[in-house]
Amino acid sequence: MTKTALVTGGTRGIGHAISLGLQQAGFSVVATYHGNEDAAQKFRDETGCAAVKFDVADYAACEQAVQQIEKDHGPIEVLVNNAGITRDGMLHKMAKESWHEVIETNLTSCFNMCRLIVPGMRERSYGRIINISSINGQKGQFGQTNYSAAKAGMLGFTKALAMEVAAKGVTVNAICPGYIETDMTAGMKQEVLDSIIRQIPVTRMGKPDEIADLVCFLASPKAAFITGATIAANGGQYMV
Ligand code: NDP
Repeated sequence: MTKTALVTGGTRGIGHAISLGLQQAGFSVVATYHGNEDAAQKFRDETGCAAVKFDVADYAACEQAVQQIEKDHGPIEVLVNNAGITRDGMLHKMAKESWHEVIETNLTSCFNMCRLIVPGMRERSYGRIINISSINGQKGQFGQTNYSAAKAGMLGFTKALAMEVAAKGVTVNAICPGYIETDMTAGMKQEVLDSIIRQIPVTRMGKPDEIADLVCFLASPKAAFITGATIAANGGQYMV
């Protein structure tokens, strides 16, 4: 039977590349999205995969969606927590809403999805969870106290959960992409991007496929001995 992989924010950007990669690897992929209907429909037409709309920050919405997805597509074997947003601003000017929105969408979403999906993985003694964090969760970033905190939080979450489920055949890993060419970075000023590229030893931004390939490996049975890891894919911009 085809195994099911769920990719949050899987209809655009890095998530889109991950969905395609997992589909090519033989998974039945379900992608989620939040509001961009055009991207979701394009994704459905292009892949034949399901795209399901709900807010990953809303526990009740996640619960309803996960139940329906497992009913329609079977147990979720691979979960990729990829959905994320930025709401940049310096702390002394940051609205409380920008803090909460970023923490809830990037970090609380990992709790929501894992809380709902991990019990089934434990029962079946197999699962793969991949959390998409960020270079800015590792090193901090000017104007991103909210985003850096959320992405750093994902790293602690990954390690703690990895310990809890390791003996049950479930691995949990985090990927920290550097700057990748997607809509998220397309919104940045060119001079800011140029100054970032000057800090990247490979002298370019990354491509969504370069993150997707790593996800596909971590999602495979071959990656059974990798868990609780934080894996950087940043062109050498930040070496820990
Ligand atoms: P995009 O902005 O291109 O896509 C974000 C995706 O997440 C979209 O599918 C969007 O849905 C979905 N999404 C956003 N908010 C919610 C929500 N509340 N509920 C459900 N889905 C939601 O982002 P990227 O592809 O650039 O980034 C993907 C991940 O990688 C993010 O976690 C990001 O923080 C991280 N990352 C990105 C880097 C980069 O340089 N691009 C660098 C490091 C990390 P919709 O299409 O409906 O809006």
